Amino acid sequence: MLTAAQCLAKYGPPSDKNRCMVLWDVPASLEIGIIPKRLYCNRDLIEPATAAFTKLIQTGAIRDLLTFDGCFNIRKKRGGATWSLHSWGVALDFDAFRNRMGVPNGAMTHRVAECFTSSGFDWGGMWKGRTYDPQHFELAKI
Ligand SMILES: [Zn+2]
Repeated sequence: MLTAAQCLAKYGPPSDKNRCMVLWDVPASLEIGIIPKRLYCNRDLIEPATAAFTKLIQTGAIRDLLTFDGCFNIRKKRGGATWSLHSWGVALDFDAFRNRMGVPNGAMTHRVAECFTSSGFDWGGMWKGRTYDPQHFELAKI
């Protein structure tokens, strides 16, 4: 599991000027459904996200998702003192409206979760020892 301490060590303090952050021009072939055309994210997110988005499209699982709810957002973890991994742009949220914190799995379908977990992401819907966060996918390692 990736931690805020690991992100801090590799990328430094969260900032929109951080050199790990890039404006990713998402390839046109991936601009399907709710996948954004441009994404301000960590450069380390691009390769795994490309793999996950490609799988979402190829399997049709993209149709299970209704909203994209963000990537880069400097903030503390909900109910916590440490930085959210969104602070370094290494996490993605989808369908927040129906995947509230604390609900295991939420409304996230298995095939959506599989597209991400097989592409290098951990899924908040299956966390052990942490409050479930089924809308949330984050890089498993950096
Ligand atoms: Zn999140």
